[in-house]
Amino acid sequence: MIRFKKEELRQQFDELKKKSKKLIVILSALEGYLRYYYKQEITITCIYRSQSEQDNLKNKGFTNDKISLHTLWRAVDVQASKWSKEMIDDVGSVFNRIFDYDEKRPEKVTCYFHKGTNFHLHIQVMK
Ligand SMILES: [Zn+2]
Repeated sequence: MIRFKKEELRQQFDELKKKSKKLIVILSALEGYLRYYYKQEITITCIYRSQSEQDNLKNKGFTNDKISLHTLWRAVDVQASKWSKEMIDDVGSVFNRIFDYDEKRPEKVTCYFHKGTNFHLHIQVMK
């Protein structure tokens, strides 16, 4: 089951279905993977972020990025603060192996763990 940290994320998730099929596929795969192998649910903590919210995060020092893929509906964050080290290593390597970000830029990854305001898995796509 996919859980949402805030109620507004539920509507954003429905909106995301129209904007990025690939993110929905990755999230569905992640949900199944964690349920099957770790008996855990996933909690989405961020989908859309406005430019002013991004500016705010930058001003507070949570990020150095002026522009966020969340503002373009190309990224989703999943809570990972309670994941074990094994889960973190496993999910990172498996999901980056299955889903490439851009075959022309193999140095770019589909997902990575990030401290931000709370430790999470950041998942991003080209479109
Ligand atoms: Zn993110």
